[in-house]
Amino acid sequence: MNGFEYRRPARLGEVLDGLRGDAEAKLLAGGQSLLAAMKLRFAAPTLLIDLQGLPALKELRAEGTGLWIGAMCCHASVAASALVRERAPVLAALAGGIGDQQVRNRGTLGGSIANADPAACWPAGVLALNATVCTDRREIAADDFFTGLFGTALEADEVVCGVRFPAMAQARYLKFEQPASRFALTGVAVARHVDGVRVAVTGLGNGIWRWAAAEQALSRRFEAAALQGLAIDPAEASGDIHATAEYRAHLAGVLTRRAVQDISSTLP
Ligand SMILES: Cc1cc2nc3c(=O)[nH]c(=O)nc-3n(C[C@H](O)[C@H](O)[C@H](O)COP(=O)(O)OP(=O)(O)OC[C@H]3O[C@@H](n4cnc5c(N)ncnc54)[C@H](O)[C@@H]3O)c2cc1C
Repeated sequence: MNGFEYRRPARLGEVLDGLRGDAEAKLLAGGQSLLAAMKLRFAAPTLLIDLQGLPALKELRAEGTGLWIGAMCCHASVAASALVRERAPVLAALAGGIGDQQVRNRGTLGGSIANADPAACWPAGVLALNATVCTDRREIAADDFFTGLFGTALEADEVVCGVRFPAMAQARYLKFEQPASRFALTGVAVARHVDGVRVAVTGLGNGIWRWAAAEQALSRRFEAAALQGLAIDPAEASGDIHATAEYRAHLAGVLTRRAVQDISSTLP
């Protein structure tokens, strides 16, 4: 790793000053992606601005009928939260299934969505639940936030403060795990909203995106049979040593059907 300056400010204003004063500055959340990238020399920031000194970013609270989850909430705290389990159990399960104990205790919601890894779990949950990403300067709808492979709508000096989620009982996130890391080899989040169904797929290799054909079919008729004949084109996926593109695309269909069956089985 190259040498760098480390700061742990106690005010958001100081964070922004740091980012604006150094084009090579980077925010540090739990370091679960950034430190690995620095060790591999994929990233070489000259200034690391640690967000751990901002307790406001660790807030997790009810907001209206929904939830506010601060950017610095670690996955373990989301998984353990009684409020999250009550209002959006899908998110507690998603967070509890991330990586291992160390990753869940250091990795954060904000770091995960800012990083936008194409195999990450949080982006699928944020997209399917139609959440809103709130930064130091604006609110960004989930549909506008993720822009492709490791891509987001964030500006270089923008800080994610938290995410606003609607309460969501009728939603599931299922993933087939890459056995070494527990990242999603393929993962699917299905959420049934009053105005239709949203299906977000992660792990296909080219970013996290909504499966429009499945959404339309399930919005007309919410049952697994509605997905018959629908499949993701393997050309939309990537292959690697863990799985071929065909296998990943097939898994997306299987997981979507299972998630729908799972939700349907809990309906009165
Ligand atoms: C072994 C291993 C297994 C994992 N398994 C999974 C898994 O199963 N599913 C899954 O979804 N993820 C998984 N992860 C990723 C993990 O969940 C972390 O959320 C992710 O690595 C981001 O880490 P972090 O929160 O520590 O952010 P950092 O690594 O500190 O930061 C990541 C990036 O986000 C930026 N950033 C951080 N916070 C903010 C903010 N508030 N505003 C703007 N930019 C910000 C940083 O500048 C950096 O560019 C795994 C990671 C590891 C190492």
